[in-house]
Amino acid sequence: MTDHPSVTTNAMTVDVEDYFQVSAFESYVSRENWKNFAGRVEENTDRILELFDQHDVKATFFTLGWVAENYPELVKRIVSAGHDLASHGWDHKRVTNLSEKEFAEDLKKSKASLEQVSGTEVTGYRAPSYSFTRENAWSHHVLLEAGYHYSSSIAPIKHDLYGIPDAPRFAHRYVDERILELPITTTRIFSKNYPCGGGGWFRLYPYAVSKWAIDRVNRNDQEPAIFYFHPWEIDPGQPRINNLDAKTKFRHYQNLGQMERKLIRLLGDYTWRTIPEVYSAEMAAAA
Ligand SMILES: [Zn+2]
Repeated sequence: MTDHPSVTTNAMTVDVEDYFQVSAFESYVSRENWKNFAGRVEENTDRILELFDQHDVKATFFTLGWVAENYPELVKRIVSAGHDLASHGWDHKRVTNLSEKEFAEDLKKSKASLEQVSGTEVTGYRAPSYSFTRENAWSHHVLLEAGYHYSSSIAPIKHDLYGIPDAPRFAHRYVDERILELPITTTRIFSKNYPCGGGGWFRLYPYAVSKWAIDRVNRNDQEPAIFYFHPWEIDPGQPRINNLDAKTKFRHYQNLGQMERKLIRLLGDYTWRTIPEVYSAEMAAAA
C-alpha cells in the first residue's frame, strides 16, 4: 500500500477481428473459408464506437489488415472518431507459427493496408493471441525493422496457449530501448500473476472481481491497467460454430449475453484513453 492517490486513467484496447477468425477456431475454420461467412465485425465495431462515444472513451483499435481490406469505411470511422489505429497482423496468424521472414511480411502488409485506408501512420502492434513468447525473442527486433514503435503482445501469465509468466508486468523496453512493450494487465497475488485485463476472464468473473483487480493495479502498483476485448464478445447472436471441443466452446461463448452490460459499467467506472495517450511520457522517452 502507498500514500499516493490511485491512478485513474487506464488504457482501453479492442482487437478488431470477426467471430470466426479467433485462434481457438483455427482448426475448425480455415482461412480459405473466411470469405464464406457473413461478417459481423463492422456492425459490432460500430456498436463499440457508439458506446465509446457515449462514455467519452478513447481507445487503441488493434485491427487486422484483412479487416482494413474488407471494411475500409469502418477503419476510417475508427480514426475519424479520434481513436488510435494499430495492427493486429494481417490474418491472425500467431507469431509462434511464423518464421522471422513470414512475420516481417505479415507486419509490413498489415501496416501498409491500414495506413493506406486510414491515411494515418500505424506504429502499434498486438500479436494475435499474445503470441510473443520466450521462443520467438526475435519478434521485437522484427517489429522495429518493420517500422513499429510500441507493442502490446505479451501476457505475463501461465496459460495453456500463450504467455511468458516471468515477463515484466508493466511497460518496459526491448531492442536498445526502441520498442515499448505494454503487457496485458495482471494482478499479482502471492507471487503469481492473474489476468485482469479483459478477454474471457472478464466475462467469466463477476464484475466486482474485475473491478477489485483493476483498482488494485491502480492503487497498489500505481500503474494504469490495459484492458482488451473483441467486437464478437458483445454479439450474443453470432452464429455458432459446430462440433467445437468443450473447452473452446466454453471459452468463446461463456457469458456473451452479459458482456455489453458489464462493459458499460467498466466504461463508466474509469477514464479510458488510447495507449499513446496513457503512455505519452514513456513513448517520448523511447523516441
Ligand atoms: Zn485476436
